[in-house]
Amino acid sequence: MIAEVIVDVAAYPIDRPFDYKIPELFLGFVEPGMRVKVPFGPRKVAGYVVALKNDSDLDVSKIKPLEELIDFEPILSSELLKLSEWLAVDTLAYRIEALQVMLPAAMRAKYEKYIQVEDSSAITDTEFMNMLRGRDRVPLKIADTSELLRQLKAYVKNGAVRVDTLVKQQTAVKKVRMIHIAEIEELNQQVETLSKQAVKQRELVNWMIEHAGQTIEAGKLIAESGVSATVLKTIIEKGFAQEKKTEVYREPDALEIQDTAIPKQLTAYQQHAVDEILEAYRSGTDTTFLLHGITGSGKTEVYLQTIEEVLSTGKEAIMLVPEISLTPQMTTRFKERFGDQVAVMHSALSAGEKYDEWRKIHRKEVKVVVGARSAIFAPFEKLGIIILDEEHESTYKQEDSPRYHARDVAIWRAQFNHCPVILGSATPALESYARASKGVYRLLELPTRAKDQELPNVNIVDMRAELKDGNRSMFSVPLADAVRDRLDKGEQTVLFLNKRGFSSFVLCRDCGTTIQCPNCDISLTYHRATENLKCHYCGHEERVPQVCPECESEHIRFFGTGTQKAEEEIAKLFPEARVLRMDVDTTRQKGSHARLLQKFSEGQADILLGTQMIAKGLDFPNITLVGVLAADTTLHLADFRAAEKTFQLLTQVSGRAGRHDLEGEVFVQTYTPEHYAIELAKAQVYEPFYEMEMGTRKQFGYPPFYYIVNIQFSHEDLMKVVGYAEKAGRFLADGLSPESVIIGPTASAISRVNNRYRYQCLIKYKKEPKLTETLQALIRIYRTDWIKDGLQLSVDKSPVVIY
Ligand code: ADP
Ligand code: ZN
Ligand code: ZN
Repeated sequence: MIAEVIVDVAAYPIDRPFDYKIPELFLGFVEPGMRVKVPFGPRKVAGYVVALKNDSDLDVSKIKPLEELIDFEPILSSELLKLSEWLAVDTLAYRIEALQVMLPAAMRAKYEKYIQVEDSSAITDTEFMNMLRGRDRVPLKIADTSELLRQLKAYVKNGAVRVDTLVKQQTAVKKVRMIHIAEIEELNQQVETLSKQAVKQRELVNWMIEHAGQTIEAGKLIAESGVSATVLKTIIEKGFAQEKKTEVYREPDALEIQDTAIPKQLTAYQQHAVDEILEAYRSGTDTTFLLHGITGSGKTEVYLQTIEEVLSTGKEAIMLVPEISLTPQMTTRFKERFGDQVAVMHSALSAGEKYDEWRKIHRKEVKVVVGARSAIFAPFEKLGIIILDEEHESTYKQEDSPRYHARDVAIWRAQFNHCPVILGSATPALESYARASKGVYRLLELPTRAKDQELPNVNIVDMRAELKDGNRSMFSVPLADAVRDRLDKGEQTVLFLNKRGFSSFVLCRDCGTTIQCPNCDISLTYHRATENLKCHYCGHEERVPQVCPECESEHIRFFGTGTQKAEEEIAKLFPEARVLRMDVDTTRQKGSHARLLQKFSEGQADILLGTQMIAKGLDFPNITLVGVLAADTTLHLADFRAAEKTFQLLTQVSGRAGRHDLEGEVFVQTYTPEHYAIELAKAQVYEPFYEMEMGTRKQFGYPPFYYIVNIQFSHEDLMKVVGYAEKAGRFLADGLSPESVIIGPTASAISRVNNRYRYQCLIKYKKEPKLTETLQALIRIYRTDWIKDGLQLSVDKSPVVIY
């Protein structure tokens, strides 16, 4: 027997399976989806078995045997193995990268293997019992005899033992002491044997009689019964109870339980959506639904009730949420509804916690996963539905190789599993809405709020006028008045300050003008080092003007501001206000995010000040005011999606106000109140924005009318990076059809990172049958040749951020 193995070495020309002999000892053990150790050149490396076969094209006598098994059961299903093949081709990544991205990081670290006895009564083989010598956990040594291995395999199969892979100390399985109290008859009988003087022991046994037959955690038992650990120990020794160490999973944080535990009576729109989705589910159709529902329209309730049906018919569900921020509240809603059938996977978990959650899924102990991007690879084998909430979010795209988009992976898995996908958003990505308009996705609309509340009233504040009136503060007069009003009424305010993006832009504080590229309809990026303005789409470059080209004001300068500064200003303006600040600095510590939200929901603060992490998911009844301090920060990013991102963000933030009984109000401060993204965000209407933005995209040839590929080059030597980028540009022009446009090479927006110069080529195309082939050929040249000269090259299809 031969195993095909993808080895853990990312370098050309090794990106293909290698053949290894399966030694006698492992025959019948090795299955596709397991990790193994194999000799590779002078080294021993880890690898993934992707297939088994009886024969090889190579001279079998020269094929080396694999040396060690890392897993005793497949950790990747045949579906995930196939997915990795597609993923590697589609994202132009190494196959090994595609395999590794599907597993929790802890599984890539150093590990030890143990045999864990689950049911000792099922172990009857004497040789095996000798090896265990009464222990319930022994290190697994592969050097043991094949007879033992064969026995081990049988015991793994019937559940008598498990082979555990323990990763370092921190991720080791966590255990607690559980006390199993004897049955009532036994307790009643035994209590007579205690002496009259043993008051405490009698007290404990009497307590136990009320809890007969139960299994309780030791700490809890001691706290509730009110006796000491020593008394408990004596009582256990006397046989009133049994002690057992049980493995527990680390509990990721969740907010306190709310009122969402019971399924709600659906509105007519929600009901229609659920019916359509479940019809596709029942008929096993892989329809992709775009659930377009305004903020507060009850999309989550649609997800919950759909999943409920999927679970009750024996299938499993993946629920993706965009980032950490959404998880505490979202997690709580899922745990309330589905209890311990839910695993949670998001980036704030420790490696150990992520590993625990992954194992719950792998062992089929849970049926739903709620998680960030990588949860799309959850090892379920009976998928019934996949949901992406806030599907427009850029965090669904991975920025490192493999550069996949969770939406694409979701659709692939849905096709494999014949199940529907739901993409949900109040502000769908333009690409998604365009697909829905063409009938590629099925559009479902939730045009009203679930509790029939009005959308909040959005006021646009012209900061140019404020400045003219002599107000240099971050707070306009109307916003400051509104905050004061809420403080008086004891209602809550959310203040939003956006600091997203890598680049800065130049803005005239008098007229709101930003300097635009003459060819591209995007703001030029300010480069501090050279004091130049650059367009990284076409390479256009100019000096920073001394006065505004529109109004000749000297108040033209580069723009940027921070949450810390805002906090200081709040303290000056509203000294009595209790403020919580939520940004990367205050949420670095694990669990701090949930704690801050919990505090705010309990009314321990009047104002929540934060970055984009507070824009989504917040659903608190007492928030009646939302203030956006500077709407312009996203608008002028050097990004063709700037208007879309601004519109999405303003809509999301506004949606935080007045979601329950109290009415909400929103103030958006801006230097460009006439921009359509801001005007239409005020009206909170998606379709007109969509039409408008599609017009712009069409005119300038951006997605969704064209696809974009970004090829990024970097080198320590400027001349070399330019040289290779030009060579690559010519290679692409030769390989691709003449209808495809190649822009560049040009210097990247951030032209130097870590002392490496960065250049890029953009390919724009509508249909390009030779795309994959040409890009693969380019990558091959790079991996065999250019890489040796210190060049780094990366290919990003459909990039969400270009910097
Ligand atoms: P979205 O995700 O669309 O912004 P949510 O799912 O968070 O909206 O719902 C907004 C609020 O409305 C929540 O407090 C939720 O509990 C409530 N809600 C949702 N559906 C219903 C319903 N059918 N009846 C009553 N309340 C509902
Ligand atoms: Zn001006
Ligand atoms: Zn340009």
